[in-house]
Amino acid sequence: MTLKVDAHLVVFFPFYLLMWMYTMVTFLPWYLLTGAQAKKVAAKRVKARPTLRVAEGPYRSVDQFDSLATMDFPGMDTLDKLFEHAMQRFADRDCLGTREVLSEENEMQPNGKIFKKVQSPPRLYFFHHCAHCEPSPWAFTVGLHRVPAMGSSLAHVCVPLQLILGEYRWMSYKDMETAISHFGSGLAALDQQPKSTIAIFCETRAEWMISAQACFRRNFPLVTLYATLGAEAVVYGLNESGVTHLITSVELLETKLKNVLPEIRKLKHIIYVDKKKASFSGYSERLQIHSMHEVQKLGARPENLNREFQRPTPSDLAVVMYTSGSTGQPKGVMIIHSNLIAGMTGQCERIPGLGPKDTYIGYLPLAHVLEMTAEISCVTYGCRIGYSSPQTLSDQSTKIKKGSKGDCSVLKPTLMAAVPEIMDRIYKNVMSKVQEMGYMQRTLFQLGYDYKLKQVKMGYDAPLCNKLLFKKVRALLGGKVRMMLSGGAPLSSATQRFMNVCFCCPVGQGYGLTETCGAGTITEVADYSTGRVGAPLICCEIKLRDWAEGGYTTRDHPHPRGEILIGGPNVTMGYYRSDCNSGDFFVDEQGQRWFCTGDVGEIHPDGCLQIVDRKKDLVKLQAGEYVSLGKVESALKSCPLIDNICAYANSDQNYVISFIVPNKKKLTDLASGKGVQGTWEEICNHPAMEAEVLKEIKTVAKSNKLQRFEIPVKVRLSPEPWTPETGLVTDAFKLKRKELKDHYLHDIERMYGGK
Ligand code: AMP
Repeated sequence: MTLKVDAHLVVFFPFYLLMWMYTMVTFLPWYLLTGAQAKKVAAKRVKARPTLRVAEGPYRSVDQFDSLATMDFPGMDTLDKLFEHAMQRFADRDCLGTREVLSEENEMQPNGKIFKKVQSPPRLYFFHHCAHCEPSPWAFTVGLHRVPAMGSSLAHVCVPLQLILGEYRWMSYKDMETAISHFGSGLAALDQQPKSTIAIFCETRAEWMISAQACFRRNFPLVTLYATLGAEAVVYGLNESGVTHLITSVELLETKLKNVLPEIRKLKHIIYVDKKKASFSGYSERLQIHSMHEVQKLGARPENLNREFQRPTPSDLAVVMYTSGSTGQPKGVMIIHSNLIAGMTGQCERIPGLGPKDTYIGYLPLAHVLEMTAEISCVTYGCRIGYSSPQTLSDQSTKIKKGSKGDCSVLKPTLMAAVPEIMDRIYKNVMSKVQEMGYMQRTLFQLGYDYKLKQVKMGYDAPLCNKLLFKKVRALLGGKVRMMLSGGAPLSSATQRFMNVCFCCPVGQGYGLTETCGAGTITEVADYSTGRVGAPLICCEIKLRDWAEGGYTTRDHPHPRGEILIGGPNVTMGYYRSDCNSGDFFVDEQGQRWFCTGDVGEIHPDGCLQIVDRKKDLVKLQAGEYVSLGKVESALKSCPLIDNICAYANSDQNYVISFIVPNKKKLTDLASGKGVQGTWEEICNHPAMEAEVLKEIKTVAKSNKLQRFEIPVKVRLSPEPWTPETGLVTDAFKLKRKELKDHYLHDIERMYGGK
């Protein structure tokens, strides 16, 4: 052992020496010149404090303590004014960019799916979003997607369409102004009425933003639905909101909507955004299908273009945003213009220097509040947006033809938003590539990584390591990213540190909900701590409310804890369906709106929030899908092998696990059939029996139409039944989740092991 250490020291002595000398020579000037000390002071400062000097708050940012911010630009109180303001300042600058498709190759299966049969070795993907296997907005799975062979025993690896893409083609603010004005006037000519809803069901692309801006200007409340939402949920949302006009893409129209259109009762007009003209057959005569281009042409006619129209007011409905909830039907959150303006004001304040020098890469679903507000903010501040998709993001992405460039390499974004899942994937991928390096290279990388990690943890940097070791990694995202934004789910400390070290940029972690316009908190750039989501934004304040059942109170030590309540002008107007508007929204004596989030937080002495739990039964997996644990349990209880079940999911993981009390007779019979012998306890602890129960669970889950991500993939079979005496269920035999979690803590660690 000693010999090994010595040899290591001898081999890498020059490296250590170099780092030491470098630190000595450069530290002082660097410390003085880069303002490292000022940054440290900023990191440690108190960022928010309670207005009422009590532990429950409300906590406000110290930078906007006396009153909450409602808008960034005086008088710009509606979204259309905000765009016009940007147009005046940035008219000839690039606004929205899209890459040209130079060529595409694919292999079409008879069933219409695009994938190629490949025998091993299969290809390893950097980001792999497999539209065929498991459509999900956030499911960027690295690795292999083997889909069952069609009548053959060959392993299939999903290889989607391979593209060669050209440079970005940019639309200036002026071009965008024309497109918005013609499209808005065209929609009006197609009888779209002000204050009547219109829906967009479309992938992230420039036309989405143009459509949204046209609707904001004309006061057409925009109903947004995830492109990945199931057909049933889409029908529900479109019927509930009563839309007559729908903006979509040819692909979604043909693959998702066509069969359900007869169920969307009020729909009259469908507008597809694709540039290529398409022909359609098999659609009801009741429906008129137009291309966006045709609608713009119609709108450009003087008799339409010059017709007067009414602009929105700050209290007009701007968006009805359907959340992706998997508990029954999705809910439409009603967002008015002033909500969005306030929320974006708060968010932008935490992104220093946001402006025309920035380039943002847009690839997350625009129907999610974080992406929508991020992109509208970019347009407002003159930061150009280059469109991308999870399948074309990097050189290694699935749709990018080998040897050609992915979107990041061409665009070289300076700002990028990502859900934690994506950052985790990058982390694992880079680290597995490091493991494949030769000994020398790997050790150098590791030494540099550890050295820089130490510096980052103290709030410093390591410019030499950045140049020598991390330049290549940084190049994966184009090499210019100056800030990453993370939100929607918890970001692990390890991943955050990895991004700081290898991509040499801060990660702003944000916390918010659709109900608060995505705004709540964002960490400050100077704050180099991890595991926290920052202080309240300047547009809102945060209160903690005791949650006795969960064991969280504002009197907790060392820090107050409780359910997070967010108040301020960014709090939306409730749900479209009135029966959803329970006590989650309320207005206080001062007339301020509040939303009770159901998330549990802890406030640190510097006013920063840490998310510690969630009150809701609903768990959002790391990949962004919501799992209703109750729904999973009631579906699986019908399984004869199961007497009682508790589903469990950690929101920093992407699968569900379960604790099960098996039916003694059924499981014993099954065990003897499989040749597993022993005591009841031994049978329950036997891996073969766990596997058998999981198999059964899968069958029952499928027959109950559970979604893939809702099906528990690991199980703990409990030999002892849960009775009120054990403290694991209530007197009414309702599950006590917290107690169950504590009881099975070891099993949870085992089932989520390896992370
Ligand atoms: P959505 O309305 O779909 O954006 O989901 C909002 C929910 O996502 C919140 O109620 C939280 O439970 C969760 N969430 C959002 N951001 C974070 C974060 N930074 N850390 C932990 N959970 C988060």
